[in-house]
Amino acid sequence: MPTLFKKPREIRNYLRSVKCEGKTIGFVPTMGYLHDGHRKLIRDSKVDNHMTVVSIYVNPLQFGEGEDFQSYPRDLDRDISICEEEGVDVVFAPGDEDMYAEMPSLRVEIPGLTDILEGSFRPGHFNGVCIVLLKFFSILQPDRAYFGEKDYQQLKVVQRLVKDLSLPVEIVPVPTVRDHDGLALSSRNTYLTAEERESALSLYRSFLLAEKFFKEGQRNSELLRETIRNFILQHPHVNGIDYVEIRDENLMPVEEVKEGDRILLAVRIGKTRLIDNWRLGNEEL
Ligand code: AMP
Repeated sequence: MPTLFKKPREIRNYLRSVKCEGKTIGFVPTMGYLHDGHRKLIRDSKVDNHMTVVSIYVNPLQFGEGEDFQSYPRDLDRDISICEEEGVDVVFAPGDEDMYAEMPSLRVEIPGLTDILEGSFRPGHFNGVCIVLLKFFSILQPDRAYFGEKDYQQLKVVQRLVKDLSLPVEIVPVPTVRDHDGLALSSRNTYLTAEERESALSLYRSFLLAEKFFKEGQRNSELLRETIRNFILQHPHVNGIDYVEIRDENLMPVEEVKEGDRILLAVRIGKTRLIDNWRLGNEEL
């Protein structure tokens, strides 16, 4: 059974004594409702570190008005069982009163990074992400923290945050885990009806299509993006595309696409907003 902490002061004291013994701490921040993507992060952390800490916290600060903060799936008992199966040492599941007894006035902005793509459709989102991570890093003082490429822009934002502030934590990226049919695992997939889930497969399939054109020599970003958009829009329940972009490793727009550039997209299927991304030049295909 992992040790469960709710109070920042208690887990801070506990981990301080762990660090005194010379042990390294791997940290996996999550919003819970754990799936195989989270399990992969945990497994990677267990390989690299003496001790693995998983946080389970639906952070209100990263949700905008009218978003799914209230309806976000929550099941702490189930999450703790999964953590136990995976051999997690410590679970940190604070309440809002523990994290935000007083609302922070600090605002974190990284111009050109937090205000594009997700940031332009979800203003304030990355501020909330950065604030909660800064708090977690300061409470837990982990040696390494694990982030999924599924949230590719978030990974870039966190890497930049850590670099700009010289935070003593190594950010470890973890490739996206997909279901057998290609759907990127996400706690939000639980919102999808069976029919909507079928349409959601169009995201992955549009990546395969773009990858095929790329391998055939197509390098025009605009054309590849149009192909993806048109393909996804053919599917029922697709309520709109927020963006389909192809960006370089710094998330700068590209006209001529090269290997290693990323397709990033956000699509609304029924009432569910899904994000996914794909590295062009994927060797596995
Ligand atoms: P979340 O609980 O959705 O906030 O995600 C917590 C962490 O798990 C983040 O670093 C995500 O990028 C990562 N993650 C979520 N889904 C996946 C996935 N399908 N594959 C890999 N990592 C994921």
